[in-house]
Amino acid sequence: MDNCIFCKIAAGQIPSKLIHEDEDLIAFHDINPAAPVHVLIVPREHIATLADCGERHAALLGKMMLLAPKLAQQLGCGYDAEAGAGGFKSLFNTGPDGGQEVYHLHLHVIGGPRPWRGQR
Ligand code: 5GP
Ligand code: ZN
Repeated sequence: MDNCIFCKIAAGQIPSKLIHEDEDLIAFHDINPAAPVHVLIVPREHIATLADCGERHAALLGKMMLLAPKLAQQLGCGYDAEAGAGGFKSLFNTGPDGGQEVYHLHLHVIGGPRPWRGQR
């Protein structure tokens, strides 16, 4: 997609702090983090929103979701079930009322020591 910032990041035309890349996905640090850890998991394919996904995207969405806890672990905010500690938020914003600013599908992974911006 012309003029899509995340397509440009995926193509290496705009720099980013990449933390993961494979044939389907990239992940990089958010430029304006809402918490000590804030990364975005982004498919290489341009899909505007979660509401534009169909059955053919099920595996891709699953891959995005499964990457979230791995990256959180790698970045020091994984969930430790035994200790009942740690953890992170993972969210898709969809459309204007969902607070979406960049219309290329992405999964936010947000964590680290609180307080976070605008939250306890
Ligand atoms: P949305 O509101 O669309 O769910 O989130 C878009 C996110 O992308 C925001 O958290 C914003 O800070 C981040 N963002 C926007 N432009 C860039 C950019 O050029 N580079 C990086 N790394 N993050 C960006
Ligand atoms: Zn795009």
